[in-house]
This record gives sequence, C-alpha cells and structure tokens, in this order.
Amino acid sequence: MSYTDQVVQSIRKNLEQFTKQADVLEVGTVIEVGDGIARMTGLDNCQAQEMLSFENGALGLALNLEAETVSAIVLGEYKGISEGMTVKRTGKIMSVPVGDALIGRVVDALGQPIDGKGDLATQEFYPVERIAPGVMSREPVNKPLITGIKAIDALIPVGRGQRELIIGDRQTGKTAIAIDTILNQKDQDVICVYVAVGQKESKVARIVAKLQEEGAMGYTIVVSAGASEPAPMSYLAPYTGVTMAEFFADKGKDVLVIYDDLTKQAWAYREMSLLLRRPPGREAYPGDVFYLHSRLLERACNLNTKNGGGSITALPIIETQAGDISAYVPTNVISITDGQIFLETSLFYKGIRPALNVGLSVSRVGGAAQTKPMKKVAGSLKLALAQFRELEAFAQFSSDLDPDTKKQIDRGQRLTELLKQPQYSPMPAEEQVLSIYAASNGYFDAIDLKEVKAAEESLIKFARKAKSALLDKLRAGEWSDDIQNELKDTCEQYAK
Ligand code: ATP
Ligand code: MG
Repeated sequence: MSYTDQVVQSIRKNLEQFTKQADVLEVGTVIEVGDGIARMTGLDNCQAQEMLSFENGALGLALNLEAETVSAIVLGEYKGISEGMTVKRTGKIMSVPVGDALIGRVVDALGQPIDGKGDLATQEFYPVERIAPGVMSREPVNKPLITGIKAIDALIPVGRGQRELIIGDRQTGKTAIAIDTILNQKDQDVICVYVAVGQKESKVARIVAKLQEEGAMGYTIVVSAGASEPAPMSYLAPYTGVTMAEFFADKGKDVLVIYDDLTKQAWAYREMSLLLRRPPGREAYPGDVFYLHSRLLERACNLNTKNGGGSITALPIIETQAGDISAYVPTNVISITDGQIFLETSLFYKGIRPALNVGLSVSRVGGAAQTKPMKKVAGSLKLALAQFRELEAFAQFSSDLDPDTKKQIDRGQRLTELLKQPQYSPMPAEEQVLSIYAASNGYFDAIDLKEVKAAEESLIKFARKAKSALLDKLRAGEWSDDIQNELKDTCEQYAK
C-alpha cells in the first residue's frame, strides 16, 4: 500500500468514527429576581424540578414552567443574583447525597454538611422526588417500632412502616416524644433521620448535643433547615430526609424518619407559592398543599421480602393553634397518616407528661405489630382507663362513692400515674409489660398515689435480679398461660 493510500485510509477511518457531539448548554437570562424567586427567559427545554446554576454559583430549582419564562426558587443566598445575569441548565433533577457516610452527620436541606466535620465521603446521589413504592411491593405493618414510652407502646403502638402523626400546641412535648423514640432505637438496627424544619439553630444544636451524649448519633442523620434560612430550604428539607432514608430502605434496613414539623413546611410552601404567583386557596395555601404532604408521607412503607424487606416509619409533627385539630393543614395530615398522638396543653400543665390525650389518640395499624404480651396487658389497661375517664369527674367526691366506683377511680389514678414518664428515659418493652400488668391487676392499689412510681421502680429492679428469664421471654414476644402465671408469681413475690 502506497503512503498516500495509507493516509487516505486513515482519514476515512477517522471520518467513519466521527460522531456529532456538540455539547449544547442551554443558557438563559434572569429577568426578575426578589425574595428568593428568580424569573428567567431562554431556558426552553428546562424540566420541572431541574437544578439551575446561576452565574455567581448559586443554585436554583425550576418550579414554574411557563410559555415564555421559567420561575425558580433560589436555594440559599439570593442577594448576589441580579437582573441580566446568565443562568445555565444543569440537566439534572434536584438530587441529594445519600449513603452510609451521612450517618452521624448534620446536613442542610441540600445535603451539605453543616457540622464542621468535613466533606461527605459519598459519591451517590438520589433525586429528592421519587414515586412511592406501589401496593404490590409492600406488605402490611407487622413489626413493632418500640418507642420506649409506655403510654404509646401500650395504647397507640407504632409499627415499622407506619405513619403516625404527633400533633399538639406549642410546648406540649412533641419533639420530646420524637427524640425519646430515636434514643430507644439504640441497638435495634434502626437508622433514624431527624428533619428539623424552620427551627431555631440553637434548638437543633441542643438536640444534636443530646443525641451525641446518649450515643444516638451513631445511627442518626440530622437534616436541618433553620429558621434563618430562606423558605425554599424548609420546603425541601423533609424530602431530603426521606430520600436519605430510602437509600437504607432499598438496602433492606428499617428506618425511622421524623419531620419536625410539617406546619412550618406548609408555611414555607405557602410563601414560595405566593411569590411564584400561584393562585392562593383556603387560608392562602396553594391548592396543592395536600399533595405537598401526601407525596412525602406516601414514601413511608413496609416493603415485602421480594423488595428487600426494608421499611420507612414516619413520625410527622404538626403544631396546632389552641388545640384546633380541625384546621386546614392538621386535618390534611391527619387524613394522610395512620393515626395520631394528640398532646394537650391542659394535661401538660396538670403534670401528665407525656401530655397524651388517650381518648383522642389512635393508631390504626400498629396494633397488628404489637407483641403478644403487650397486646394482652394493654387490653385491660385500655378498659380500666376508659372506665376511669367516665368516672373521673366524680373523683373529688370520692368519700361519698360506693366501694366499686371508688376502686375503679383509685385504679385509674394509679394507671394514669404510671403512664407518666420523664424525658430521655425510654423503658424496654418487657419492663413496660410487667409494670402495666402489675398496675392493672391491682398490685399497686394499696399503695399511696405518690409512691406508685417508686413501687414500679422497685418491682422492675426485683424482676431484673430474680426473674431475668421471664423478662427475656417477654422481650422475645412469647406468651402462654405459664408466662402469665410467672408474671403473677413475680408480682405476688414482690408484694410480699
Ligand atoms: P415546640 O412547639 O416549641 O416545638 P414541643 O411541643 O416540641 O415544643 P418540647 O420542646 O418537646 O415541646 O417540650 C417542651 C418542654 O417540655 C421542654 O422543656 C421539655 O423538656 C418538657 N418536656 C417534654 N416532655 C416531657 C416529659 N415527658 N417530662 C417532663 N418534661 C417534659
Ligand atoms: Mg418541638
């Protein structure tokens, strides 16, 4: 082959392999900016939920796609953005980092670390909006998620994969229930995600310090969109949290996610929507505020074994005004969740803490996941408390009552006393069973009301020392007549 032929052949080969790969980056121009919202022209093929990159490095999230313009929320500081600035499409749907590296970290709504412990060692990203697993890949809730709070585990039990709303006025102990539940997941093989929405940074710092002190950061991720950050961060944070949870659920793990709280997310979304000029509806919320919460909570799930068997349990929190659970956003979230834990200011100030309203709180699916011993003892507890509620109003005339009624009132008062529980002291399930069994079978009836807690404590101490085999069985969820007799024996020996 002549040299010319060789050259020709090589050129031909090169031409054959040539593909047109001009990288066209769509660039637009900002035409209006203010309050964290930017309107742009020239981004013709922009997708909804696409990340945009402004000339100064700030990130945007495209939300309104209109005929001529695209409106985006600015994620982070928007003061550096001005009219006429260029903006680039990234082609990427809003995503956040996921992975094991996030455990023990505190991140913002974009998944960037804010705890000063350096970069995240993860390369994996998940889109923040994902379609929830369908019915066929789920199974009914069947494993308990023990909160360690007696009143909840016995009366309104939560199962893995359930969505249980914590609802109440300001300062009624909503966060306390959520944090105690996280503390109780130690050594339970559950990963926890705590999402703080629109809370003061100092409050979040205190919670993180507490989790650290109790050794809970070893299995917990904290996502925080602070009160001083722009509204879009509060809107995004819950989705960021559930996305991080999904990574673990996909791997077959059980995850607990707490949204503290969704009221503030709804406010942030209302603010954003009004600025985006979406039409306001009831209470000035946009028409799709229900969808804001439903598509978030729908992602809680209990996957079947074919899909790895992982689960995401969600404990959303909603703040009410003057106990009004029938306001717009509270009713929305009540209808999306599988039950609610209702906290009341009046109970809180009466010293009943957790300030749980036992009558109005429900768990629609958790009962199926309760262990057998707990189900047995909780049955009699519920009955005794219901009877007590009927008679409670007469308690102050107790000297004039017939002995039967008086006995029911006494029993009810002792049970109520027993369900009080200080913060940061979750109780193992087997000890809860023992204590509730003893109280609802009258072993505390003769004890002075003030001494009930001390009696409970010493009963548990006694059982730990002398009856550890029984406690092991109760922990494993075993139940039989023999075990019931053993429980009775334990209480009787203790009473002596
Ligand atoms: P906010 O509306 O401000 O978020 P909240 O409803 O989340 O309030 P918490 O912050 O959890 O309420 O609790 C309010 C106060 O009550 C705190 O000082 C907390 O320490 C106290 N508290 C909560 N639960 C208990 C409890 N079981 N026993 C004693 N004190 C409690
Ligand atoms: Mg709180």
